[in-house]
Amino acid sequence: MIILRGSIRAISPLHIGTVGTGNYHPTLPYIPARTIRGMLGNYLFNEKRDLFEKLRIDDDENPSIHFKPALPEGSVASPLILRWCKRCGKLIEERDKDCPECLQEGKKRGGLMLEESLSSKKFRGPEIRSSIDTKCPITRRGHTSPGERYSLSPYNIGALLPGSEFDLRCVLPGEYVDDLKDAFREAGIFYGIGGFRSKGYGMVEFDFTGEEGIDGYIEQRSSEFDGSPLLMVLNAPAIFEEEGKHVIGFREKLLESYLGDHRIMRQVFSEDRARGWEIKGGYRLGKIIPATGMGSSALIEVDPVRAARAEVYGIGNMRHIYGDVYFRRWDYGAI
Ligand SMILES: [Zn+2]
Repeated sequence: MIILRGSIRAISPLHIGTVGTGNYHPTLPYIPARTIRGMLGNYLFNEKRDLFEKLRIDDDENPSIHFKPALPEGSVASPLILRWCKRCGKLIEERDKDCPECLQEGKKRGGLMLEESLSSKKFRGPEIRSSIDTKCPITRRGHTSPGERYSLSPYNIGALLPGSEFDLRCVLPGEYVDDLKDAFREAGIFYGIGGFRSKGYGMVEFDFTGEEGIDGYIEQRSSEFDGSPLLMVLNAPAIFEEEGKHVIGFREKLLESYLGDHRIMRQVFSEDRARGWEIKGGYRLGKIIPATGMGSSALIEVDPVRAARAEVYGIGNMRHIYGDVYFRRWDYGAI
């Protein structure tokens, strides 16, 4: 297995659907793993059925390829367990109540942040360039068109601007990597990603920057983690289930199969909804699943190799599109 890295660049506006109200359709600021899978799955199903079958891209139980969310260049989910000064954005360490410099209190921050914030200990958000486009409906056919009640009124589409760049990562058997690159390139141009594609949205360009064997990755990462409790952060919603019920937040019992023996010392989590999708014959919403939200995070004692492995394969159910997680040495003050 290898990790393929690269970037996705918008060459037309992008609309990545999320829940809106009225006739406003907001966009997410990033591309969820399920959306990348949807684009590729649609393309392969129609154009290259053999690769579709080999990658088992629509198999939620035993897929060959794991997709990761494509976040704006250089960014990660902001860990909800950390606090940042309201005024200067400095990280407030565990022992401090307020910012030592401006005496302002700290607050947790959701959404995305530049990864370098974790080492510089100063919060910086990614640059997200977006616009709101107003359209007049022409047809009511097709799933991207607004509902009947908007048939005569304009509607507004949130869009990420052309030139926006996102980090791409996926995990797959090395033998398929060249075919996959070709498929991504063609799918990005001829199929596109996200909503309103019939209105000229969603065209993307792929660029590939590297491939890395997972054994080397795990060895390297685990040596960086050694001998310290870790910060664990969800980079995507995660689905946990116990006796047929969905569980929100981290529980040792439910994480054991991914992390081995470990101890959760503290956690802060949010609740989200994961969307289950069907690919064959059009990418359709199958079900909505309660999930632990992006940014949910914990201070955890865990085997460094298991942590590195979880960065590759994710945690929870449907790890090929959900449950992407990252770890850092806990370097945020005495516990
Ligand atoms: Zn401050």
